[in-house]
Amino acid sequence: MVKPFVPQLVYVEPKAMEYPLGKQLVNKFEDMGVEIRQTTSHNQIRNLPGDNHFQKYRTAKSTLVVGLRKTLKFDTSKPSAEYAIPFATGCMGHCHYCYLQTTMGSKPYIRTYVNVDEIFDAAEEYMNERMPELTRFEASCTSDIVGIDHLTHTLKRAIEYFGESDFGQLRFVTKFAHVDHLLDAKHNGRTRFRFSVNDEYIIKYFEPGTSRLHERIEAAVKVAEAGYPLGFIVAPIYIHDGWQEGYKEMFEKLEAALPKKATKDLTFELIQHRFTKPAKRVIQENYPMTKLELDESKRKWKWGRYGIGKYVYQNEQQEDIKDTLGGYINTYFPDAKIEYFT
Ligand code: SF4
Repeated sequence: MVKPFVPQLVYVEPKAMEYPLGKQLVNKFEDMGVEIRQTTSHNQIRNLPGDNHFQKYRTAKSTLVVGLRKTLKFDTSKPSAEYAIPFATGCMGHCHYCYLQTTMGSKPYIRTYVNVDEIFDAAEEYMNERMPELTRFEASCTSDIVGIDHLTHTLKRAIEYFGESDFGQLRFVTKFAHVDHLLDAKHNGRTRFRFSVNDEYIIKYFEPGTSRLHERIEAAVKVAEAGYPLGFIVAPIYIHDGWQEGYKEMFEKLEAALPKKATKDLTFELIQHRFTKPAKRVIQENYPMTKLELDESKRKWKWGRYGIGKYVYQNEQQEDIKDTLGGYINTYFPDAKIEYFT
């Protein structure tokens, strides 16, 4: 079982101490006996402990920077929401195919932003622009926010903030089961709490440092019982020997565990495995022993953002995935909505 994250090393930007959350976090880490260093800016962090890239990468993944979010311009977040709301960046998990590996490049440490009210103010402006349309905010574009929230409770505040809003909704996804502090948040049904799930084989070989499937399911049950709208992102859908059976078992376990009332308003998002050439290089550097299949010649090239092409499954394989997983969802969760396959 993965324990709730505790950083090995904490950096604090001086301005963070002007915010209540900054002070609280520093006091908390002092009490926990975690080493705390000052840094003028996270960009100045150079000398992380470790003799080589491999070790430094692992140290960075357990380093937390307490700082400020300077850019309050939100990115768009299609297809699941209108905007990405930035409360944190980085993750302590070690999923081989993590999308953050390429976007965060040489800075894989985790950053938490303490100017939370300023982030809410920016969200308010985005909502005002779209009123009376609803605006959905995705909180997990740059981190697994649930994985660090037992330390910061920022997400809990955000859930309650959107719980009170008329035109905003929050959503996020996690591979972590440490949800207990979020169960009594006053969400008012305005937050969709999603879990990223996969079959046992995939979680075992490619998702070290995250909660196991049964733990995520137990957490999903608690979340459903707390009345949150619930969802699952099956991602990345990865073809391996026995994948059909693996995914079938996964859906059977979900169906057996979830309370019936949660299955009435349940969403699934389906995302096939993909990689880019830069991602492949980073994966092979950080996880040299990975069993992940990254052979371009077996895949279909697809135009991607910023002109970087991505390698997805061939058309027939994509159809097979859609039919197989779509079939399981229809069988086990006939009332659920498949939001997209990509
Ligand atoms: Fe990346 Fe999510 Fe895994 Fe964290 S849990 S390493 S964010 S894929």
